[in-house]
Amino acid sequence: MALANFFSKTSLAASQILQGYDETDFKRKLNTVTIEIAFDGEAVSSPEGIFTLDLTTRLLARLYPNLHINALDISAKNQKEKLEELAKSINPIISLNENVPFASIIVGNSLVSREGLVFYTGSNEWVVSFSQNHPVGSGNSSNPFGAGAAACFSAANLFRAIFKGQLVNGDLDDSFSLSLINFQKPDSEECVSFANTSIDFDETFLVGLGAIGNGALWALTKLSNAKGCIHIIDPEKLDISNLQRYVLATQDDVNEDKIRLCSRYGVPGLFSPFKGTWAEFLTKRQNWNLPIVALAVDSAEGRIAVQSSLPNIILNAWTQPSDLGISRHYNFLEQPCVACLYPPKTGLQSKTQLIAGAIGLPEKEILIREIVYNNSPLDENWIREISEAKAVPFDELKSFIGMPISVFYTKALCGGIITTNSNNQQIETPMAFQSALAGILLASELVLQVCGLRKDNIETMTRINLLKALAQYLNEPLAKKQNTTCFCCDEDFRLAYKTKYHYEENEK
Ligand SMILES: [Zn+2]
Repeated sequence: MALANFFSKTSLAASQILQGYDETDFKRKLNTVTIEIAFDGEAVSSPEGIFTLDLTTRLLARLYPNLHINALDISAKNQKEKLEELAKSINPIISLNENVPFASIIVGNSLVSREGLVFYTGSNEWVVSFSQNHPVGSGNSSNPFGAGAAACFSAANLFRAIFKGQLVNGDLDDSFSLSLINFQKPDSEECVSFANTSIDFDETFLVGLGAIGNGALWALTKLSNAKGCIHIIDPEKLDISNLQRYVLATQDDVNEDKIRLCSRYGVPGLFSPFKGTWAEFLTKRQNWNLPIVALAVDSAEGRIAVQSSLPNIILNAWTQPSDLGISRHYNFLEQPCVACLYPPKTGLQSKTQLIAGAIGLPEKEILIREIVYNNSPLDENWIREISEAKAVPFDELKSFIGMPISVFYTKALCGGIITTNSNNQQIETPMAFQSALAGILLASELVLQVCGLRKDNIETMTRINLLKALAQYLNEPLAKKQNTTCFCCDEDFRLAYKTKYHYEENEK
């Protein structure tokens, strides 16, 4: 047995996303597969290759008890030992063996021949690349974002490959490239190079050093050309269960303050850690001018607390069972604020988000809003979709045809016909690759923003579901609602924001 000493948390996370979860079966699957992380001399001579390998090891060592860390040529040998040490610092009883791998993650330019699955993983600046067929290489830049995201996508494919039978539509990706600048297929002519960019954070704030904060900090600690100050605010100590998905944390960090991670890895002087809550931080700071806040907290209350202190810009990252993502709040006066996304009445999620998540169709939330609002009856197509999404036989659901969706939600859910974790949001436990990607995207948004690298406007939200193959459209518009009770419509808050950031009275 070489499962980590925080396995119970891993089991909890898996139980929330795998259908028909059985812990004994889950353990057996983990114990019987060996995963290979293989790399060549080209991978280890490129900073991006090293970043991908580092994060891949950090992600996989948390979940899989059998890893084969494999240098494919002599010039890659020196990394093997480093990565093995890293894996052991996370799970000291991990088995590092050379068994025939169930799947291989390949970083570099080497084409390999294996009986099992092969996931070629790499990046070029902001572009993530993945293929099951051919090497994708790693860029030579010091940009950690594409490289880190690549590690998350391949870890997600690996998880889907092993637990395919327990995931709905959990198909693997075949090959893709994705730009983190616009979340579309990369356009080579618009490649934004990182090399000559000096990153000045001036004064920036990262709130929360939980699982998402760890992903963000992982990326931020890789920046060699950054200056300014990033305040990092978190009140808690790290406990053993956090190792399940805190990518920077090792056994040595247990029982230490979470903010200690900044000093363990940080570029000297870039991070200014504060142990305490956001409110305590503001009280001590005595200055409520907050140019950019990156939100990595895990509760609606935490997010709303930060929004109510009126930062100029907020970048917000989240994970939920169905997806993860980023929302961008550049202008409190004209765009939806963070609190708009977390209406206080229903706590963490709006009712339509809850319903959409519960019936297994989170990507249809916008459509569901419409049918909830109009109280229109569910037709057979909807019931068939729900039946497929939740893997419940159509016959058990067909009596609901013609019922309004909110009635369906209450009856089917309360009657136990469909089950969900959406009503247990507080104990929601994502997988490490989900939280890490949310964090990396948050850090990426921060750097794109402070450097002004994004030339074209982007929608308010970007969502990615790592439990399915990559969707074609990831960005989602969100219009500001007028006359809601949210405080972004409150005249006093609006005036305070205008005054603080010197906005002219030029609104319509
Ligand atoms: Zn609002």
